[in-house]
Amino acid sequence: MNKQEQLEKLNEVWETTCPCGLSSGATQAVPGEGSVDADIMFIGEAPGKKEDIEGLPFVGAAGKFLNEMLESINMSRKDVYITNIVKFRPPNNRDPLPNEIEASRPWLEDQIKLIQPKVIVFLGRHALNRFFPDEQISKAHGKLLKKEIKNIPVTNFFALYHPAAALYNGSLRGVLMEDFKKLSKVVKKIIAKEK
Ligand code: URA
Repeated sequence: MNKQEQLEKLNEVWETTCPCGLSSGATQAVPGEGSVDADIMFIGEAPGKKEDIEGLPFVGAAGKFLNEMLESINMSRKDVYITNIVKFRPPNNRDPLPNEIEASRPWLEDQIKLIQPKVIVFLGRHALNRFFPDEQISKAHGKLLKKEIKNIPVTNFFALYHPAAALYNGSLRGVLMEDFKKLSKVVKKIIAKEK
């Protein structure tokens, strides 16, 4: 099995065994999308209505903006991996509960261990606080964060405002675009250092 097939298999197994309790209320799992060889892995919070219908992450309005930002740094969804902390849409789009997040943790960890991205990018404060409980998105966004975390073979992290936040607050749009440029530079620097 090649790496991409391993990722698909891993997701297939977790889809039926995830103990998060959210699968019964969802149309289907939204495990993630993109390349197993991605240098950048984006992590959002949870699938929304459109994601639940299509089985793919970030396909609604926020996803459209994410695609635009990727294009602005000459990348596409095929070059990165996009997933969420929980893989099933919580009922009525409520925030995922701490026990649901905890139960979904090994699935996300397995994805990270297989993909081994150079940088994990948090889309919004929920994803940030899952890994950095004491950071505030207003302070942490647009910066490289370094940390050793148990079971996570990645030490480079980067936080962005959630793309949906920019749809409600126009001034965040420019901030996100700028942060994306910084992300592109940070990734290039990390790759250059490793050579
Ligand atoms: N918001 C998220 O956090 N994740 C998605 O997949 C879509 C919207």
